[in-house]
Amino acid sequence: MSESWIELVMPCPTDTCMMYANDRPLIYWGHVVCNGASMEISDEANIRCTECGYKNFMTFFTFQCSRKEHNGKFEAASYNVLRAALVTALEHRDSDSDVIRRLYKFVNNNKYKFQ
Ligand SMILES: [Zn+2]
Ligand SMILES: [Zn+2]
Repeated sequence: MSESWIELVMPCPTDTCMMYANDRPLIYWGHVVCNGASMEISDEANIRCTECGYKNFMTFFTFQCSRKEHNGKFEAASYNVLRAALVTALEHRDSDSDVIRRLYKFVNNNKYKFQ
């Protein structure tokens, strides 16, 4: 089966934001070097920019969000926080749920790639 892509929209997947369990909104992630152009994620955990086309495995990207404790501090996704973020995304994104479900399964089956 070929790789499927959806817009990268999920809560912040980093350890810094892990503790805010009651306040973890879905975020539309943007590519900083493209002035925040939207990003996509695949069911094989690759991420790509819709503007410049840069594509790489998720662990090659770092994330920062607008929460004051995290703003300006780029950080890799944490395995456990990423899984929680995908569960939240799944609860809110009906039309993309098949891809998110496959991505969640991919992450679970490839834990070693995220450490
Ligand atoms: Zn870009
Ligand atoms: Zn954050």
